[in-house]
Amino acid sequence: MSTQDDDEIYCFDDDAAESSQGAKSQVALPPWKVLMIDDSPEVHQVTRMVLKTVRFMDRGVDFISAFSAAEGKQLIKDHPDAAVVFLDVVMETDHAGLDMVKYIREQVGNKLIRIILRTGQPGQAPEAEVIQRYDINDYKDKAELSDDRLHTTLIVALRSFNDLVTIEESRRGLEQILASSTELMQVHSTEMFLSGVLKQLQAMFNFGQDAILCARSKPESERPILPEPKVLAGSGHYEPLIGNGLEETGLTCKDEVLKAFESGKGSFSEGNYSIYFYSRDVFEIVILLDSPHEPTAFDNTLINVFCNTAAVNLSNIHLLETLEKKIEERTDELSKANQELQIMATTDMLTDAYNRRHMLDLGNKQLHIARRYKRPLTLVIFDVDRFKSINDTWGHAAGDAVLVGISKACKALLRTADIFARYGGEEFVVVCPETGLPGGVLLAERLRSAVEHMTIPEVAGLPPITISLGVADIVDSDSDITNTIHRADKALYQAKEQGRNAVVAYHPG
Ligand code: GH3
Ligand code: MG
Ligand code: MG
Repeated sequence: MSTQDDDEIYCFDDDAAESSQGAKSQVALPPWKVLMIDDSPEVHQVTRMVLKTVRFMDRGVDFISAFSAAEGKQLIKDHPDAAVVFLDVVMETDHAGLDMVKYIREQVGNKLIRIILRTGQPGQAPEAEVIQRYDINDYKDKAELSDDRLHTTLIVALRSFNDLVTIEESRRGLEQILASSTELMQVHSTEMFLSGVLKQLQAMFNFGQDAILCARSKPESERPILPEPKVLAGSGHYEPLIGNGLEETGLTCKDEVLKAFESGKGSFSEGNYSIYFYSRDVFEIVILLDSPHEPTAFDNTLINVFCNTAAVNLSNIHLLETLEKKIEERTDELSKANQELQIMATTDMLTDAYNRRHMLDLGNKQLHIARRYKRPLTLVIFDVDRFKSINDTWGHAAGDAVLVGISKACKALLRTADIFARYGGEEFVVVCPETGLPGGVLLAERLRSAVEHMTIPEVAGLPPITISLGVADIVDSDSDITNTIHRADKALYQAKEQGRNAVVAYHPG
């Protein structure tokens, strides 16, 4: 549902247009061109005399004469903008005038000029069918030459010509608007769209090459994107200013643009033509065009139609952009949440090592790779010595700090390819791809030493922490990594048996 206020609007200052229209009437408009093709010089003379005072829509008439059909053809070609032709039927031949009519409509293709046929002899009147087919305005007997009705005939022809021109212009204008709107609808970014609007306006209405388009958020908008006017499109001298705030451009036309923003109206003065329009929920827009002549009332109407269409499109593009941005934000949020979930699902929260389940997943993948490509794979499992007594003596929090410290110390020693996981309470596992049993034993020894020498600053006075480690490499019959873990655990048990703080490698038997 939209109210009057909601609708996209285009404003041109009608008062200003009218008053300057008044001023303009003092400047003489070009007279209507009236062609006269007749082999009798007398007819030319009399017609000029009778019609010289004719005025229509504040414009006089300008007669241009030809005295034969041959000359007349040239006249028709030279003056495609002529409004009316008085055409003699009989000249070089009996039907020279009718031939000329065909020439005008069919060969030259001038459908607008009004044709008034004249003859001296009765019986030379063309048939009604011809009058209709060639769009002949009138047929006059030369006897009516001095008649006041000739006056009327010319006025009627001029009015008819003017109407046809207006219809033709509006048809072309609307056709262009339709074509340009369809083209602009393909554009999905506000900046590109506005630059297109400017280009189309310039091309359709023959404005000069210097043009600037500024936009600002509507003053009442709750979250203004553009609180101050900004140059969003420009051509000619203004092109380098795109992206700048209007204020910082220091342009002399700045006041002109601001005036249009403040008044919500466009205007024309001294070769500058400004247009104001706004689009619902988005921007107010002012376009300043370089125009040597004041656009006609008719141009204003067409520009109005064009800007209304542009405003609707602008709202749509803005909506699309907003939606796209929201989708992007949501996607980002989701992907972050997903990452967090992934971390929570695979990591032990206390020690930041992988959890048991994830270690089993990754370990099994490594087991299968190693078996397929006949690569070595060794597993180390270790358990903190007398951990229960650490808890009992220093407290559970101190025990936690020890587990965190062990994790840090071990990670510092491992390769990125190694898989380090908390297997249970105070038990950890390292899966070492591309590592044979001797390499695993070496690593285990380093881990043992690192833990023995680490310090836990949070717990003052803590005696050295030791771990017991079991090492086992894979065998052909291992179908699951738990088989390997089982053997490494046996070795670990032996390390405990041997007095702890020791590394034992599993050997069959
Ligand atoms: P051993 O040298 O034979 O391994 O003796 P131990 O005391 O380390 O072995 P035991 O299995 O009896 O004790 C393990 C202790 O680890 C018992 C349990 O309360 C403690 N524990 C397990 N998980 C955590 C934890 O997350 N934090 C703390 N502070 N203690 C834990
Ligand atoms: Mg234990
Ligand atoms: Mg233990």
